[in-house]
Amino acid sequence: MNKSPYQVLLYYRYVPIPDPSGYLDSHRRLCEELELRGRIIIGAEGINGTVSGTVASTERYMEAMRADPLTAEMEFKIDPSEGHVFPKLSVKVRREIVTLGLPDEGDINPNQLTGDRLSPREFYEAMQEEDVVVIDGRNDYEADLGRFKNALCPPIRNFRDFPAWLKENTPNLRGRKILTYCTGGIRCEKLSGYIRKEGFDQVYQLDGGIVKYGKDPEVQGRDFEGLCYVFDERVGVEVNHTETRKIITHCRYCGVEESRYGNCRWPDCNEQIFVCPACRENEGLFCGDACRTAALEAGIALNPDEVTVS
Ligand SMILES: [Zn+2]
Ligand SMILES: [Zn+2]
Repeated sequence: MNKSPYQVLLYYRYVPIPDPSGYLDSHRRLCEELELRGRIIIGAEGINGTVSGTVASTERYMEAMRADPLTAEMEFKIDPSEGHVFPKLSVKVRREIVTLGLPDEGDINPNQLTGDRLSPREFYEAMQEEDVVVIDGRNDYEADLGRFKNALCPPIRNFRDFPAWLKENTPNLRGRKILTYCTGGIRCEKLSGYIRKEGFDQVYQLDGGIVKYGKDPEVQGRDFEGLCYVFDERVGVEVNHTETRKIITHCRYCGVEESRYGNCRWPDCNEQIFVCPACRENEGLFCGDACRTAALEAGIALNPDEVTVS
């Protein structure tokens, strides 16, 4: 039974929205009335959102979306939560609801061109086949925290770097069956369509992404290693509920398992790093000596709770 007082919703839908700005105004009003927080992106091609709110208000939000013909088919991924996981509400209009950055004339409409959708079970089974390439469709720092066993994780900082990476790696991928996955499925809609457009014919995507894969009663997140990176205050969420679960990230100082990301406290750096509680105490939350020295010289304490005496 879900007794948590809040819920986090993750959802998207590629559907033509005739007047994105008008839609934005009414949608923002709805979210404000329900006191939701989170990030929603609206475009002529669809809507992409993640919000937190009380159970009652998130339920009303989903009802409102289902009552609107545009979003009646929306699939919501729901996580229980103890409170809001976003500091505020942001609703914006963008050309793309997830930015792959292709020029207008080369843009992908996932309703016309995309990879074949695999259910969590089908995806798990396909991963076991010979000569399959599982491509992580997310950024490098997301894959660092957790990824499918044996996945190929492109060293990219931003989704829009994918096309260049694919061009470089096309020779290694030719003739192989390609599986793609991302957090909730939206990036794969375009990514798998793009890969297909580049001349690959066996292209498949994990429907509903890692989040749905972790909730599937049958696969229960099997063979996903580490945590799933999410763009809210939780940072990482559990996916694998089987005996194959493991932590793949380690404290950069002592090497002990650590899955909590922190940002290097030197503001000019801000890199996302893993430092265990004991080393946070001794070394501070810094990526290394250079940032620690710079921070100490600037009077920044080793730890957030520490008070500097000047
Ligand atoms: Zn440590
Ligand atoms: Zn640093």
